[in-house]
Amino acid sequence: MQGHQKPAQNVVIVGGGFGGLYTALALAQRKHHPPVLLIEPNDRFLFLPLLYELLSGELRGWEIAPRYDGLLAGRGLAWLQDRVVRIDAEQQQLQTAAGRTLSFGRLVIATGAESNTFAVPGAERHCLGFRSLADVRRLQHLVAELKGQRKPLQRIAVVGAGPTGVELACKLADMAEGSAVIELIEQGPGLLPQARAFNREQAALALQRRDVRLRTRTQVEAVEAGAIALRCHPEGDSPAHAETLAVRAAVWTAGLNFRAPRIDPAPACDGRGRLLCGPDLRLLGHGDLFVAGDLAAPVDPEGAAGEAPASPATAQVAFQQAPVLAANLIRSLRGEPLEPFGWKDLGEMMSLGIGEASLTAAGVTLAGPAAYQLRRLAYLTRLPGRPHQLRVAAGWLADWTP
Ligand SMILES: Cc1cc2nc3c(=O)[nH]c(=O)nc-3n(C[C@H](O)[C@H](O)[C@H](O)COP(=O)(O)OP(=O)(O)OC[C@H]3O[C@@H](n4cnc5c(N)ncnc54)[C@H](O)[C@@H]3O)c2cc1C
Repeated sequence: MQGHQKPAQNVVIVGGGFGGLYTALALAQRKHHPPVLLIEPNDRFLFLPLLYELLSGELRGWEIAPRYDGLLAGRGLAWLQDRVVRIDAEQQQLQTAAGRTLSFGRLVIATGAESNTFAVPGAERHCLGFRSLADVRRLQHLVAELKGQRKPLQRIAVVGAGPTGVELACKLADMAEGSAVIELIEQGPGLLPQARAFNREQAALALQRRDVRLRTRTQVEAVEAGAIALRCHPEGDSPAHAETLAVRAAVWTAGLNFRAPRIDPAPACDGRGRLLCGPDLRLLGHGDLFVAGDLAAPVDPEGAAGEAPASPATAQVAFQQAPVLAANLIRSLRGEPLEPFGWKDLGEMMSLGIGEASLTAAGVTLAGPAAYQLRRLAYLTRLPGRPHQLRVAAGWLADWTP
């Protein structure tokens, strides 16, 4: 709390995902950093790009989901396990779900996104998701059940053939060991529209090898317990037709819903609900508020409001934003000019089944078990904080049998 004469000099970060946690860690590395408070309702950070390996048992929970208290201990960073429900930009105060009112000097909003079922009837209620530890446990339980029962024609539908849908379908197919057919349903004409050509080809091969059934130009119209209603739009002049598929479960991976807490006065957003910000990641029209991660929609430097932001909603972008944002927060508190953030595309890696991956980076393309090992190593260096990276590396060395 602050008195009203003296402006608060603290930084509060809302959301402990890639944008928020890595900004807090970057602030902690600065010699004289202001007091930093991270507000996050979950007790564990989740390294989402390795969630597939947690599902398949290739990695352990503590490796990809370390506790916040361990990650922040001894770094001069405070953590409040709570959810922010309202931000008053003018009063520089926020309210939490537990009823706390806190003041801030500078605020970072990094509350990310959740999946978007686009109001498809029954989807919210009957589909599983793939974003949380609870989702992983549910899917592991489902696969164990399917393997135990081995009934004919057991199906799992995965909705959306973007990176999450494709990577998940490959892992599920390997885990199910023939006990279930994986149906991958995509409303567009093909899988991975935004991926590099090499990764897209490797993904198509990986799906084929695992007998994953890819249905493109197919829209999910409704979901109910045990069934999914589809409308297929074949290429050419053939009319669309409906089909109902009996499924043991459907997993929804398509689409994102951006989720900022209520902010007063309401900030400018793009058409998808992301917060418009300047190149320095400061919210447009709110000098003390910053945004990071998926929620940030940078306005292009020419001033055109960003329907098409220069950077995609990925962990890679949030990770790169963190040190720039940390420096800008300190500059802003000192009244110094801020630096723009520029995103560097470092390439793309995909997990494609147990022990396999595909990657395209720095002009190199690689697929198979070698790509799997490289991907793991690349992510090891991205895990939050050096002590956690070392713990995980030590665990991997201990498991290694030459
Ligand atoms: C399965 C999966 C695999 C992925 N794989 C990759 C990949 O391989 N490479 C890649 O670059 N990207 C990948 N991504 C995307 C990447 O994870 C996101 O772009 C990244 O997590 C965005 O970071 P963020 O900080 O904006 O949001 P998040 O990491 O989602 O963090 C948001 C945090 O805010 C918290 N929060 C929400 N609301 C509130 C509130 N009101 N108050 C306080 N806290 C709140 C949430 O609990 C959460 O911890 C993947 C995503 C998924 C789901």
